[in-house]
Amino acid sequence: MSDDAHLISLRDEVRTWLEANAPKGWRDAYAGMTHAEFAQAQRDWFQTLVRGGYAIPHWPKEWPGGGRSLAEQKVIYEELAQADCPRLLLSFVSTYHAASTLMECGNDTQKARYLPRILEGETWCQGFSEPGAGSDLASLKCKAERRGDVYVINGQKVWSTMAQYADKCLLLVRTNSEGAKQAGITFLLMDMKAKGVTVKPINQIQGDQEFCEMFLDDVEVPVEERVGEENAGWAVAQATLSSERGLTLMELSYRMRGALRRVAGLIRQHGRENDQGILRDFGQLVARVDSACAIADQFLLNRMNGIERVGDASVVKNTYSRVLREYSLLGLRLGGLEEQTRHAITYGDLNTGNWMADFMNSYAWTIAGGSEEVQRNIVAERMLEMQREPKGWAA
Ligand SMILES: Cc1cc2nc3c(=O)[nH]c(=O)nc-3n(C[C@H](O)[C@H](O)[C@H](O)COP(=O)(O)OP(=O)(O)OC[C@H]3O[C@@H](n4cnc5c(N)ncnc54)[C@H](O)[C@@H]3O)c2cc1C
Repeated sequence: MSDDAHLISLRDEVRTWLEANAPKGWRDAYAGMTHAEFAQAQRDWFQTLVRGGYAIPHWPKEWPGGGRSLAEQKVIYEELAQADCPRLLLSFVSTYHAASTLMECGNDTQKARYLPRILEGETWCQGFSEPGAGSDLASLKCKAERRGDVYVINGQKVWSTMAQYADKCLLLVRTNSEGAKQAGITFLLMDMKAKGVTVKPINQIQGDQEFCEMFLDDVEVPVEERVGEENAGWAVAQATLSSERGLTLMELSYRMRGALRRVAGLIRQHGRENDQGILRDFGQLVARVDSACAIADQFLLNRMNGIERVGDASVVKNTYSRVLREYSLLGLRLGGLEEQTRHAITYGDLNTGNWMADFMNSYAWTIAGGSEEVQRNIVAERMLEMQREPKGWAA
C-alpha cells in the first residue's frame, strides 16, 4: 500500500471508530459536573481511547496503539479534532511528560513499573515551578537531603496541573546549593500519597481548579525513585519539557480549526449572518486559524525531515496561544451578556462550551509551558542569533 493510501485507510478507520466511541454531547454533560466528576469523565474517555489504540500514538510500537509515524499521529489528531472530542487534560502529564522522561532517562525497573500503570490510568503531575522559580526554573529551592536510602524533602511547589488527582509527581529538588544553579538539581518520582504531602487546589478566575499548590514537609522519597544521578536532574528535566511544546500544539491548532464551526453556529444563532463587521472578523479569524495550522504543519514537516530548529516549537506555541485568544474573544462577543454571565462552569481548558471561561483561560496559554516572552527570547537569541539578554538583568 502506498503511503497516501495507508493514511487514507487509517483516517477511515479512526473516523469509523470515533463515530461509535467519541463521547456525544459531552459539553452538556460536563456542564454542572463537580470537579471530581469531571476527573472521572476524563479517566473514562482515556480508557476508551486506550482500548481503541488511539491514546498513545506517540509511544514506541511495543505499546498498544504506539509506534505511529508523525504522519499517522497527525491523522489521528486531526480526526479527534474533527470529531470534537474532549481534550485529555487529566492524563496529559502522564502520557507526555512522565512517559518521555521515563523512556529517555528512567532505568529498566522504573520503566517496567510505571509505563504500564500510566495506561491503566495512573495520574501524574509535574512539580517543577515554585513561587520564586518559573521562567528561571533553575533557581528552585525545594530542598532534598539524603538520609540513608531516602531523600527527605522540604519546600513548596506551585501551579501543578491536576495535582489534586495525581498518584505520582515528577519532582525537581535542590540537592546542592554550591556552584551553578543547574548543577545542584535532582529529579525524583514522588508518591503523592506519601506522608507530608499537602495539596491545595487554586481557585482560578474562570471557576476551575486546574492547578494546585503543593507543600512538602519532611516527605520521604526512596533513593530508587531518583531518575538519573544525584545533581544531574537538570538534563532529565529537559526530556520532560521537550515533550510539552510542538506536536501537542499541532493537535490543539487542529482542534481550533475543527471548532470554527461553533463560531459559525453562534453567528447564525444570534442572527448576525448579515452583520458585515462580524463577517469581516470571522473571515480574519478563519485566516488566522488556518495560518496557525500551517505553521504547525511546517513544524511537523521539519521534524519529520530532521531539520527542526531551536525555536520552531516556540513559534508554534506563541502563534497558537494568540489565535486562541482571538477565537474565544469572537465567541464571547457574539454570545453577548448572556454568554458572559449565565453559563454553567464547564471544566477542561479549551472549547468547553463556556466562551467566557475559554476566553479567560486563553491567557493561561501564553504562560503555561514557558511564557510568551520567554519563547520570544528563545526565538530571538537561539534562532535569529540576536544579542543575548545580559545575565542577572532586572527591571
Ligand atoms: C495553566 C498552567 C498550567 C501549569 N502547569 C504547571 C505544572 O503542571 N507544573 C509546573 O511545574 N508548572 C506549571 N505551570 C507553571 C508555568 O510553567 C509557569 O507559570 C511559567 O514557567 C512562568 O513562570 P512564573 O509563573 O513563575 O512567572 P515568572 O517567571 O515570574 O514570569 C513573570 C513575567 O515575567 C516575564 N519574564 C520572566 N523572565 C523573563 C525574561 N528573561 N525575559 C522577558 N520576560 C521575562 C514572564 O514572561 C512573565 O510575563 C503552569 C502554568 C499555567 C499557566
